[in-house]
Amino acid sequence: MNRTEFVDIGVNLAHDSYDSDREAVMERAARAGVVQMIVTGSSVESTRRAIELARAHPGVLYATAGVHPHHAADLTAEALPELAALAHDPAVVAAGECGLDYFRDFSPRDLQRRAFGWQLEMAAKTGKPVFLHQRDAHEDFLAILREHRAALTGGVAHCFTAGPAERDAYLELGLCIGITGWINDERRGLGLRDVVRGIPAERLMLESDAPYLLPRDLKPAPKTRRNEPMYLPQVARAVAVARGEPVEAVAAASTRTARQLFGLPHAATNQ
Ligand SMILES: [Zn+2]
Repeated sequence: MNRTEFVDIGVNLAHDSYDSDREAVMERAARAGVVQMIVTGSSVESTRRAIELARAHPGVLYATAGVHPHHAADLTAEALPELAALAHDPAVVAAGECGLDYFRDFSPRDLQRRAFGWQLEMAAKTGKPVFLHQRDAHEDFLAILREHRAALTGGVAHCFTAGPAERDAYLELGLCIGITGWINDERRGLGLRDVVRGIPAERLMLESDAPYLLPRDLKPAPKTRRNEPMYLPQVARAVAVARGEPVEAVAAASTRTARQLFGLPHAATNQ
């Protein structure tokens, strides 16, 4: 079977906006060729829900275990062992999402740095890669990452929206780069279209970040702003245009890369 297969490495499928039709969302994704998805854990609670979903859909859904920098203040020394135990779950393929977000500053920066460091240690202990979030915090982020890099098995800078300097710094650290529908944005995605050309094919991954970041160039535009993993091929098309490659090549390479980093099996061809 050489049907085009996609792996969505970042979907917030535990989000309550899917509570009424989660199964239908998954079916639509499968029909669009999105054969495997990694459900982002962004708090202890959402990690637990992501694991439940992954257990209910083995071979299709996987989970990450982490606390988003927005919630860093909730990751106390008492809460950490619980997260670490979840990170060891067989359904969990990465630690995170974790990192720093100085754009919103929903948690104090010192607590963000502490939570990030803890989760990198946690990743190292599990031997699983890290799923990284960074916004407006590049210098601190890089410094903390460098401290832990030798102990880490690898990772992905998810929802990358920055410039060539950040891209090159992450590539130098051996990280992969996750591209979302940000690239489909005719206004703010333009810079990313240049940046994406400089990512080696074996380091590039695709993610919907649904329910967020609905690609803006869908025709006809969906009735709601809620994004779904079935729109991931639209992200792949924008990446393909930017790189001057066939979309099938982008799909094949990003799927291979995602399966390799997260240790996913080959999807069943009858999904
Ligand atoms: Zn994020």
